[in-house]
Amino acid sequence: MNAKEEIKLVDAVEISNADFDKKCRKCKESICCNSINQKIPTPKSKEDFDHLLWQVSHENINIFKDVDGWFLHVDTNCSHLLPGGVCSIYETRPWVCRDYTNDYCEYDVRIRDGVELWFSSHKQLEKYCRKRFKKWDQRFELYE
Ligand code: SF4
Ligand code: SF4
Repeated sequence: MNAKEEIKLVDAVEISNADFDKKCRKCKESICCNSINQKIPTPKSKEDFDHLLWQVSHENINIFKDVDGWFLHVDTNCSHLLPGGVCSIYETRPWVCRDYTNDYCEYDVRIRDGVELWFSSHKQLEKYCRKRFKKWDQRFELYE
C-alpha cells in the first residue's frame, strides 16, 4: 500500500468510526460483516435436496430456512473489515451494507438461533432428507 492509499484508508476509518453506533462498538465480532446470506429457490424434490447436500458439504457453507424462504449462508469475512469493526470502504460500501440496520440484528439473536431450520453439515441435512422423503436412498435410481 502506498502513502496516498494509506491516507485514504485512515480517512475512511475516521469517517466510519464517527458513525459507529454504541451497539456496533460492543459487537466485537462485527457479525454482520462476516457472512453472506443468499436466497435460493425453495428446494422441493430429492434432486434439489441432493444438490443442497453437496453445497453444505463445503467448508463454511450453511443452509437455513426462515419466514422469507431458503438461504445459503456463507461464513466468510469481508475483505474490507478492519480490526475494531471498521469498514475501510465506508463511503462507498455496497447498498446492502447501507440498508442494514442494527435495530434487531445478529448481535441480538444469532441467525442460527432464530431460524426455523438450520443445517451446517451433510449429516444434519441428510437426517432431515430421510425424514422428509420416505425413499430417500432410492433417489439415485432417478439418474440411472
Ligand atoms: S449491525 Fe449488529 S451484527 Fe452488525 S456490527 Fe452492528 S451490532 Fe454487530
Ligand atoms: S463492505 Fe464494509 S460494511 Fe459492508 S460487509 Fe464489508 S466491512 Fe462490512
